[in-house]
Amino acid sequence: MATFSALVTGASRGIGRGIAVELGQLGARVAINYVRDATAAAEALTLVRAAGGDGFIVQGDVALAPDRERLVAETFNRFGRLDLLVNNAGIATMVRGDLLEAGEESLDRQFAVNLKGPFFLSQLVAKRLLAQVRDAGGLRGRIVNITSISAYAASSNRGDYCMVKAGLAMMTKLFAVRLAEDGINVYEVRPGVIATDMTSPVKEKYDKLILEQGIAPIRRWGRPEDVGRAVRAIAEDRFPFSTGAVFDVDGGFHLHRL
Ligand code: NAP
Repeated sequence: MATFSALVTGASRGIGRGIAVELGQLGARVAINYVRDATAAAEALTLVRAAGGDGFIVQGDVALAPDRERLVAETFNRFGRLDLLVNNAGIATMVRGDLLEAGEESLDRQFAVNLKGPFFLSQLVAKRLLAQVRDAGGLRGRIVNITSISAYAASSNRGDYCMVKAGLAMMTKLFAVRLAEDGINVYEVRPGVIATDMTSPVKEKYDKLILEQGIAPIRRWGRPEDVGRAVRAIAEDRFPFSTGAVFDVDGGFHLHRL
């Protein structure tokens, strides 16, 4: 069987890197996308190789159509086929602040990177996957979207992020419905608070919420590999009869408690 091949956006650092390394442990080839930090992307590739996989690094801004085209073309040129797209690349809100003062620039950027990018990347990849033969399990491919607890938990000081993550959750359902008959399963992985560069500016606040107040029943920060393992399970086809499913990787944050 051909080596499992994956494209992970924003895989140079944080959660995306954690996903790439877990896929490396499966012996997968991983296209490691980044936008600015080539050094971090090269480090991620070294870790993927050390884990038992291989791949290459590829620069590209998911918000830009020509970059998305190039990203996908290069991945298919190198690998010949693709088994998994992980829409992970994402950015935090520009400035946290009162919803009544929230500006257009941050919302436009949120939309471009966190929702428009994954939408058109999924569209591009799906069209290519349709031309692939089904694998032994009957699938042509898989798409995973990394959303957030912010898809349903309202943080009024960064409403733009919450709105686009809610949109990405709906996007998962839309592609799942459209592609099910074609042998392409689509999943949402919904992380809680994970220790990465994205959350380091608010570390003290979240230390209090997680460790002292216990906002989630499992009182610890999430780690990139927690998310990576969920994606790895999808890559291993542990859920062949599931599509559009949501996997909460959040220490139980989503549970209502009394
Ligand atoms: P991070 O540490 O800030 O890493 C972001 C990654 O995305 C980097 O690899 C970065 O590349 C890349 N990236 C940023 N903008 C990009 C663009 N326009 N095109 C392509 N790549 C881009 O973030 P993270 O915490 O790992 O977050 C990853 C995903 O998980 C995001 O979608 C985020 O919303 C989601 N998430 C995070 C948390 C959390 O607590 N951390 C919780 C829930 C969901 P460079 O290295 O080149 O800058």
